[in-house]
Amino acid sequence: MSRFKSIVFDVDSTLSGIEGIDWLAALRGPETRAWSATLTEKAMQGEMPIEAVYGQRMQKVRPNKAEIEQLGREYVERIAPRAREALAELRTRGIELAMVSGGLREAILPLARELGVDERSVYAVSVFFDEEGKYVGFDERSLLTQQNGKRITVLEMGLQGPILAVGDGMTDCEIKPVVESFAAFTGFTRRARVIECADFVIENFDQLTELVLK
Ligand SMILES: [Mg+2]
Repeated sequence: MSRFKSIVFDVDSTLSGIEGIDWLAALRGPETRAWSATLTEKAMQGEMPIEAVYGQRMQKVRPNKAEIEQLGREYVERIAPRAREALAELRTRGIELAMVSGGLREAILPLARELGVDERSVYAVSVFFDEEGKYVGFDERSLLTQQNGKRITVLEMGLQGPILAVGDGMTDCEIKPVVESFAAFTGFTRRARVIECADFVIENFDQLTELVLK
């Protein structure tokens, strides 16, 4: 018996221990890294809406194709401890798994493959390049660049309930009204406001398996 039929995962600082955009910003030097990390943290704390910081960060970092591929490898390398085993077990039990992220889709797909999450169940923001692999922009119309974007996305996915959402940031908290439960994941970052909003708090993926399958 499982308590949930579907699980929606955040990616950055949940399934993998990095914030993708901050990792890319670090390629531009420590100052850009610090600037980006401050904006990311404000957005994840809910002090600033994500749409206010998204374009600013991308415009400054302008990641090229090779850097996105490098980031893809980094996501896999920094995969959360026991996440592989947990997701494999949950899939075996017939639970539908999806990833919903404000991160860059092309960088997240290798992680999805590694975790056995179908590409069609990965919702993230696309990034565009020219023929030489230079950055030309990102999908500015994506709902996932907006504060309540995850909520609308999850609603439209039409997953089978009961649904559990798992994440570390305020944009994950926003999903709560359209799912049965929200679990704050504190394995990488612990935020008081997110914990306050959560039905459950889990600090590792063994606890997730236990929560879902008990
Ligand atoms: Mg996150």
